[in-house]
Amino acid sequence: MKCSHCQTENTKKNGHTHYGKQNYYCHSCNRQFVEGGQDWFVKPSDKVLIDKLLLERISLSGICRVCDVSGQWLLGYIKELYGNLPNDLNADAVLPDIASYLSDRMDEEIGRIEVIKKIQLHLNNT
Ligand SMILES: [Zn+2]
Repeated sequence: MKCSHCQTENTKKNGHTHYGKQNYYCHSCNRQFVEGGQDWFVKPSDKVLIDKLLLERISLSGICRVCDVSGQWLLGYIKELYGNLPNDLNADAVLPDIASYLSDRMDEEIGRIEVIKKIQLHLNNT
């Protein structure tokens, strides 16, 4: 079975999911994946596109439709990107909340960048 993350064949069966799907473990990247599950491989070019769409504040369900990824996958990906979201998220219940969370996060980030710019300006002028 090919690993859905790194595409190597260095995998072994690793029990079943709650929904009875075969679960696999990859020795190469130490990650788990599910046969035919939603955690399928998303091309790096698609991830770049998704990154851009997230910054554009397009609704997450819109991104799912455009990029043909599942809400669960997108949530997992956002968790990867932002690291500190709770683990027990339910895609349907929290999609709108995550959208506003990301907006807040962006505003914070922009604020930080503005502060850095000001400091740099100040340093350049002295
Ligand atoms: Zn792997």
